[in-house]
Amino acid sequence: MSLRTVCTELLGIQGWEVVPDGVRIEGERVVVAIRRRAGRGYRCGRCGTGVLFAYDHEPVRQIRDLPLWGRPCWLEVQLARVDCPCCGVTVEAVEWVEPYARQTLRYERYLAQLCGIMPVLDVAELEGVDKNTVYRVDRKWLARRAELRESRPVRHLGIDEIAIKKRHRYATVFYDLDRRGGARVGATSQPAGSQPVFSALGQGAVPGGGGGLHGPVATLSEQRAALLPTGGGGVRQVPRVPLSR
Ligand SMILES: [Zn+2]
Repeated sequence: MSLRTVCTELLGIQGWEVVPDGVRIEGERVVVAIRRRAGRGYRCGRCGTGVLFAYDHEPVRQIRDLPLWGRPCWLEVQLARVDCPCCGVTVEAVEWVEPYARQTLRYERYLAQLCGIMPVLDVAELEGVDKNTVYRVDRKWLARRAELRESRPVRHLGIDEIAIKKRHRYATVFYDLDRRGGARVGATSQPAGSQPVFSALGQGAVPGGGGGLHGPVATLSEQRAALLPTGGGGVRQVPRVPLSR
């Protein structure tokens, strides 16, 4: 197996290959030049219509990708423009990068996963990426994950209160105890005990202080974000967690 074939296998993007002598090292970073495999058509980047031939090509771009053997890596590519019968001349659609994005989708997912285990500023420093980019990517993938989550009523609700800035700003965290995940976070300017939501849960439904919540059961529909009392079950106190960002 030739080195180029090995590199294309490692690239792992269907329909794309590393060009001959396409891997080079520039200081600490690796640049891998890739191209679309011959014999494949194109898709309009706006409406997805299939087009047989390229109209012309964009200038060469470098797109940040997953690290290669511990070194930061960029894919060098020249995307085609197509003459779509519906939209006119547009940049082709490719599965692994969004139009005009500077990172591949898999690199964005990697950044978002890092954000799950360390602060955004540390991720930005570790990866040498602008912090605003990391914030944007993190928000985007959190939203995408939220969209994919199955919407169902919460049967056991855990509640905790976190002071973001003591005596000024508080966050009330609602946990779906069955799913072991955060259901909602609401930031307010007053302690949770004085918020209307706790009145809705009934007397004594105030988090913190070691006293568990007993009696009332809250059903939190993640779509409606509404708290409705129901019968049966119970609400347990959950341990406090640090607000990482
Ligand atoms: Zn189109």
